[in-house]
Amino acid sequence: MRMTFIYPSVGRKDNQKYIKSWEMEPLVIATLAGLTPGDIEVKFYDDRLEAIPYDEPTDLVGISVETYTAKRAYDISREFRRRGIQVVLGGYHPTLAPDEAIEHADSIVIGNAEEVWSLVIRDATNKKLRKIYKSNLPLISGTICPKRDIFKNKRYFNLSLIETGRGCRFKCEFCSVTTFYAGNYYRRPDEEVIHEMRSTGRKTFFFVDDNIIGDVHLSKKFFKALIPEKIRWIGQCSLNVAKDEELLELLRESGCVGLLIGFESLIKTNLSRMLKFHNDEIGSYKEYLARIRGKGIVLYASFVLGYDHDDEETIEETVRFCREQKIFIAALNHLVPFPGTALYERLRLEGKLRFKKWWLDTDYHYGDIPYIPEKVTAEKLRELSVKARRKFYSLKSIFQRSLDFKANCRNLKMACLYFNVNFMLKKEIDQKVGLPLGGAINAEYNNSQHE
Ligand code: SF4
Repeated sequence: MRMTFIYPSVGRKDNQKYIKSWEMEPLVIATLAGLTPGDIEVKFYDDRLEAIPYDEPTDLVGISVETYTAKRAYDISREFRRRGIQVVLGGYHPTLAPDEAIEHADSIVIGNAEEVWSLVIRDATNKKLRKIYKSNLPLISGTICPKRDIFKNKRYFNLSLIETGRGCRFKCEFCSVTTFYAGNYYRRPDEEVIHEMRSTGRKTFFFVDDNIIGDVHLSKKFFKALIPEKIRWIGQCSLNVAKDEELLELLRESGCVGLLIGFESLIKTNLSRMLKFHNDEIGSYKEYLARIRGKGIVLYASFVLGYDHDDEETIEETVRFCREQKIFIAALNHLVPFPGTALYERLRLEGKLRFKKWWLDTDYHYGDIPYIPEKVTAEKLRELSVKARRKFYSLKSIFQRSLDFKANCRNLKMACLYFNVNFMLKKEIDQKVGLPLGGAINAEYNNSQHE
């Protein structure tokens, strides 16, 4: 039995490099490879980095699918199925849009794969795949043993991705995580996570959890256990981190150097609309930022542009805030209705979806606004979102924001990181705008594009 895993790209512009900041090791593939029995020959191709050898002999192809990669994943699936090879799709998108995904594969996995992967392999070996494998267990202790040697000879960021838990107890309207996990949060045992971290031989990690402080009590216990490991890490969490001094201190002591936090909006009515009630102390944002910076932790602040009460002025105010507060980096992205979310359903019922399935629409490109915003036109919002990013990553702004010697440029190493990351994201603004989703199946692939 031969198994081939594929990680699809979003799409690519003709003769242009792929987006560098999107090129991280796909942890999900290593996790699936770790679940696959040792007597099965496993191959892995990352569509972002290399051409897919459709004619190489294999018995089963497994593709991990997100909404932005769905179009490309379906095209890849079609190519393999045309050659008589069985294809199984899994991930967020097939879980949140199963009726669509099943049209493009022999089989789909709904939910996380750990519980059902051995059945998939058994049935594929007997050429008797079921249409749907549904997992009811979001996290099974002891089953996550990623096989990272499948990343050998592929050029990724020098950073290991690790998960300590899954899900989030908050219920933000636009978020697919809360839909996927039904507003629940699950954690792996600390010793299992630390054992996995040691096995990588690395000292720098990205905890991919959507909210690493999803259970504050358990997180504190984990951060205490991390202190002797003497690592550096970055992660994602909710803003309530800044309200707990003990938690912040433990973050610092455990080696946290950066956090991605969803601030989302500076407008209270927007935050209520998005059901992000845990963020509504907007008057305290500056104080929260100062507390995080005081621990030497840099911030990747995420804002969603285009909620009901946003217009040109509020978007400009958001950029001003990010610049004045010397945010290390910021995501200034327009709102995206992902299938299965409460937001998608609301916009659908209100008749505000411009593209019902924007992720498959050939007229839709990365950066287009798939819905009708309340206060500005879709085209205007697209323009304002790009302008916001250009202003935040302008040379003047990069220089001004570097003048933070508590966090952003607190030593030479951090200063180098600050300028590298900011210039990389500045360059990517134009690379991302208008990126087609999907793309030619046999697109010319040039290895030098990643030099
Ligand atoms: S806090 Fe973050 S992960 Fe949790 S539901 Fe909201 S957006 Fe999703």
